[in-house]
Amino acid sequence: KLIKLTEDQKPSTPKKITAKIPYASLAEVFENVEKESSRLKITAIVSLFFLDILQNSTVDNLVRVVYLFINRLGPDYEPDLELGLGETLLIKAISEGYGRQSSQIKKDLQEYGDLGLVAQKSRSGQRTMFKPAPLEIEGVFDNLTKIAKSTGKDSQSKKISIINKMLTACDSKSSEAKFLIRSLEGKLRIGLAEKTVLIALAQAFVKYENPKISAEKLAQAEDIIREAFCQVPNYEIVIRHAYTHGIFNVLDHCQLQPGVPLKPMLAKPTKSISEVLDRFQGEEFTCEYKYDGERAQVHLLSTGEVKIYSRNSEDMSQRYPDLISIIKDFLRENVNDTQTVNPHSMILDCEAVAWDRNTNKILPFQVLSTRKRKGVEEKDITVHICLFAFDMLYFNDQPLITKSLKERRDLMFENLKPIEGKFQFATAKNSSNLDELQTFLDQSVKDSCEGLMVKMLNGGDSFYEPSKRSRNWLKLKKDYLAGVGDSLDLVVIGGYMGKGKRTGTYGGFLLASYNEDTGDYETTCKIGTGFSDEDLLSIYNKLKSTEISKPKSFYIHDTSSTNLPDVWFEPSMIFEVLTADLSLSPVYKAAHQVYGKGISLRFPRFIRIRDDKSIEDATSSTQVSEFYERQANLN
Ligand code: ATP
Repeated sequence: KLIKLTEDQKPSTPKKITAKIPYASLAEVFENVEKESSRLKITAIVSLFFLDILQNSTVDNLVRVVYLFINRLGPDYEPDLELGLGETLLIKAISEGYGRQSSQIKKDLQEYGDLGLVAQKSRSGQRTMFKPAPLEIEGVFDNLTKIAKSTGKDSQSKKISIINKMLTACDSKSSEAKFLIRSLEGKLRIGLAEKTVLIALAQAFVKYENPKISAEKLAQAEDIIREAFCQVPNYEIVIRHAYTHGIFNVLDHCQLQPGVPLKPMLAKPTKSISEVLDRFQGEEFTCEYKYDGERAQVHLLSTGEVKIYSRNSEDMSQRYPDLISIIKDFLRENVNDTQTVNPHSMILDCEAVAWDRNTNKILPFQVLSTRKRKGVEEKDITVHICLFAFDMLYFNDQPLITKSLKERRDLMFENLKPIEGKFQFATAKNSSNLDELQTFLDQSVKDSCEGLMVKMLNGGDSFYEPSKRSRNWLKLKKDYLAGVGDSLDLVVIGGYMGKGKRTGTYGGFLLASYNEDTGDYETTCKIGTGFSDEDLLSIYNKLKSTEISKPKSFYIHDTSSTNLPDVWFEPSMIFEVLTADLSLSPVYKAAHQVYGKGISLRFPRFIRIRDDKSIEDATSSTQVSEFYERQANLN
């Protein structure tokens, strides 16, 4: 559905945009998006801006602008492109750039709770003798990239000097300084979900190609661009193909390729074996051990290079040099084996699990998490890994994701040779007998696994669905069968000061789920159970510096509640929590748009901090409402 915008919501007119785009036009669009709350209008604002760029500027600039919208500088898997500069450095830069005392800036920050706003106010209060050349998108993007990549001993001063130059060039009447600082902090947060950026891109391309296109075609284009992005999560590649070949042909050119990690398929939770049997009634399915380690997408490039990517598409190759060696070992074994086809390009979906080489047994996740994350040398590794492969997504130049799981797995079994304790296939059982499955579930737990993954085996429903939390993959976690079937991963947005034994740390926390459509964090419970004294101290030390004076505009909570937290936090930490059940609540807000009231967790209990998930990977409000409905159906 297309939406009409009011005059002041329309992005810069084509006159303003030429091959070079002023950063001020982007700041104006950011401002309009931030003010707007309707999803449809936000999409329209963004897509008109993209269209403007397609018509009047270059595709290079479109790529840059898209990255600036999502506050990144390149794909997730490319290293050293992270922003997220510290407050101290930015305060120093603002202070030097605008000739104000750091102490004054800190005071303002206390008052406004947003360093971007402080920068903007500092800029508008500053007189300048002469006007520097205005900022342009290309220059800003290049500068941000230089800042992100700069390391070493002079890097602080280099970064400050680049930021200073940009701050001085900001127009005192626009909000350039505000958004520049927020981008540098890695906290743009204008209320724009990444999903919306993809839809806006599809709309812009469609209108660029044919302004009179039907709504049906428009919806088709949105699906196409989403699918292309799932297979090749790289905006530059997708945008360039859409530009060169047309949006409706983009899928012919955006197919998965080794070296570009695809977004992993995810599973839905279940509470019992009988629920699994109901779901897969009459269908062929397989049960696999659910290993408790870290997801690892293994890529063999045609150059012979091996890469490992995390659940979040980060390149983990440096962190797991031993895994790279394991893969090279088993590739060598494969070459010597006349029974198998020699793999020259491949993508495998696996779980990397800690392995005891003396007892030949799996070790718990806690052991894996003691491994160093940076500067790992293979010779110093004491916690060894065994890789359990459960899917093959690409083999010798052929994408396999539209083949059935059975076909994919058969190809994997036929062509790869396991090596005990280093590279194995996930233990699996094809059965639909309740007793057999119960025994298999119990066995998985005895073998140090979390439970089972149950997967559709044949036909279209068993295709690999990148980035999707699919009903065709179910997880059955033994420990959580008594609750709602799974743990939840929630964002910590507020804290309650501890009393008694907990004095001096936070004693409780306000948690929220993530609304993927609006980009909001919706509160879902207060938690104070399950923490050891050490947990509380270490959480306090981590969260203290993220305290903010006011809740963010995208925190959705009942502010008239008598139980407001003592402090609010920047969203940065995720707690994995258990709950007895879920109920509707007048105070909490998760999924409130669906039920009028929000859903809250009853008797929540802390399990651990999830530092392998980014805050956008928190349990979504839609998932919370699914948990709630499943519980309502079952009771
Ligand atoms: P979610 O976002 O689904 O909550 P999560 O990271 O919390 O993801 P789980 O819910 O525990 O993880 O389950 C999914 C994960 O289980 C996969 O991402 C994968 O890392 C792991 N896993 C272990 N064994 C398997 C298997 N046989 N098949 C698929 N995934 C497996």
